[in-house]
Formats: sequence, C-alpha cells, structure tokens
Amino acid sequence: MKYWNTKLKEMTEYIPGEQPGGGGGIIKLNTNENPFPASQRVLDRIKEACNQSLRLYPNSTSLSLRKIFAKDNNIDSDNIFVGNGSDEIFTLIFRAFIENNGVVAFSYPSYSLYYTMAEANGIKYKKINLDKDFNVDLDAFLSKNYDLVILCNPNNPTGKGCDVDDIRRFLDKYKGLLIVDEAYVDFYGETSIEMVKEFDNIIVTRSFSKSYSLAGLRVGLAIAQKDIIRGFLKIKDSYNVDRLAEAGACAALLDKKGLKYNIDMMKNNKEFLEEKIEALGFQVVPSKANFLFVKHSHVQAVEIYKKLREKKILVRYFDGPIQSEYLRISIGSMMELKTLINGLSSILKD
Ligand code: PMP
Repeated sequence: MKYWNTKLKEMTEYIPGEQPGGGGGIIKLNTNENPFPASQRVLDRIKEACNQSLRLYPNSTSLSLRKIFAKDNNIDSDNIFVGNGSDEIFTLIFRAFIENNGVVAFSYPSYSLYYTMAEANGIKYKKINLDKDFNVDLDAFLSKNYDLVILCNPNNPTGKGCDVDDIRRFLDKYKGLLIVDEAYVDFYGETSIEMVKEFDNIIVTRSFSKSYSLAGLRVGLAIAQKDIIRGFLKIKDSYNVDRLAEAGACAALLDKKGLKYNIDMMKNNKEFLEEKIEALGFQVVPSKANFLFVKHSHVQAVEIYKKLREKKILVRYFDGPIQSEYLRISIGSMMELKTLINGLSSILKD
C-alpha cells in the first residue's frame, strides 16, 4: 500500500462473480453470461478477421460497428461511442462528466460496479433503496440535485424493469446527467434510445456480453447526443476496441435471426426455471432479464449458496442489506437448470 493514493487506500474493490477455469464439470449460473454459444456467423467472422491485418491498428472509433447500430436504431453514427465492454464506458463517464465535488445517485440494490467506480474516482454517492417490490423510486432521485443518476434497466440483480414512459417523465424534471444501463435490454424489449434525440442529458449504455453471448469479446456502446460522444472521444484510449472485437460485434448485429433464436431460448428456459423453483418453495421476483432473484421461504440464501457450491453449481450471493436474503441465478441451458433443480431439491430435503 506504500505507493497507493488515499482514494485507492479507502476504496473497496469490485468483486466479480467467480470465473473458474474450464472443465471440472462446474455449472456456472453466477455471472449472467449467456449459456448458448455466439452464432456461427459471428465465430466465422472473427476467424476471418484473424489475418495479416492484425499487424495494423483497428479503426479508432469502430466506425463499421457504429454504422450498423446507427442504421438499426435510426440514429446517427456520431451518436454512438464504442467501448471495451460497457464497464469501460462507466469508467469514462466517471472520469469525464462529473466534477470532484459532484454527487452521484443509484438504486440499491443495483450493479455494484457503480459504487466501486464512484469510490475509485473519489466521488460521493447516494444509494436510494428500491421499494419493497423492488421498483425504482424515481421521485427520490429528484429530491436533491444529483449530478449523475444511474438507472439499470432492467435492474441487476433484481431483474425488474422500469417503465420507459416513467423515465421520460423523469427527464422532463431532472437536470443532471442520466445514465440508463441497458445491458439486459434485449430480454426486456423497452429501450430509452429514442430519448437521446430529445434530451441532451441522457446516455444509454449497451453490452454485447449478454444477449449476444460475447462476454469474452468485450464490447459495449454508449448512445447519446454528439456533444457527449465528443467528450468520450477526448478521453478514451487510442485504440480501445480491437479488430476481432469489432468484427465479431458487427456480425452479431447483422445476425438478427441468431439474436431472436437466443432470446426465445432464454425465455423458454426462464419460464422452466421459474416454475420449478417456485415449486421448491422459492419466491421469485418477476424478471425482465436473463436471471432470477429468488428467496426461499425458510432456508437462508447463504446456506443454499454454499451447498450448491459444494455440488459445483455456482450461483450469485451478495452480502449486504436486503440482497443477502436472495440468490441471483443466471438462466442456463436446460441441462444446467435441471441439474440445479435436482441439486436444490436434495439440499432442501436435507
Ligand atoms: N451493466 C450491468 C447491469 C451488468 O450486470 C454488467 C455485467 N455484469 C455490465 C453492465 C457489464 O457489461 P460488459 O460486459 O459490457 O462490461
């Protein structure tokens, strides 16, 4: 710690879900990855891009990817910034758009990286509790002049969605910068991208890690008015997204059938898990994402988490108020979910 600055000494690091090495028969339902492989077209395109051009730097703003996304979403490619995963985009937001004495607000529980990023950048933050049904209390975000608000829609770890019309009404009143994190939006279907045309204080973020099964590739997007995008470009690394990542992400956007197939499969598996897990005595928060937030009526979440781990089934347990009563379980393949249900049945019998 000798050379650490004060901010670094005081902050708590983000703890990602466990990523065990391949093999070992582990069932991984802890980090909301997609259980199905990326489409063959995407894999082929990445292989094709593995050629002599790798000696050259990539396009510094991932222009091909921006053009495809712009066309699909009826916006301009200058409204898009491409990041090394949406996590990089959050880092840049904290560095670029908030003064040192600014205050940020997010819901609790929500994606814990937000809290870490605020601490890493020495920025004060306020956690605003979700209501008892895990809905966002948007009025509470208007009670003070927060410089930045992050809304995760649908929210991680609860899976609850926030109505897009409510977000629009919020923007009519809110004067700071609003980030809508849409990492799981393809499972939900309601996006705030349209609002970018109307409001200069919204940034929508997207990820290729969930619905496109490309968590290993590291691609995310920010969609906002041009002035904000220019801010991102000013502070980004020179070549933050590599050639293979851009090629894969372009192919993923072009493969509409592949995306639909994936989302339909996930929906089917989610319904299966909901039904089976409820039958085992779990309460399930209605989820718009690719995971379920569940609580057993009389067995503690941490006990179930540990017993599942002994059976090599990883789910996510978060320490802290409210969320420590729950487990977050990513929707896996049918085989993984059946193994999970069998594992849970035998734990609960014991
Ligand atoms: N936002 C939320 C809400 C997430 O859950 C995650 C992944 N855990 C991310 C963003 C990060 O996505 P990416 O892989 O694009 O960095």
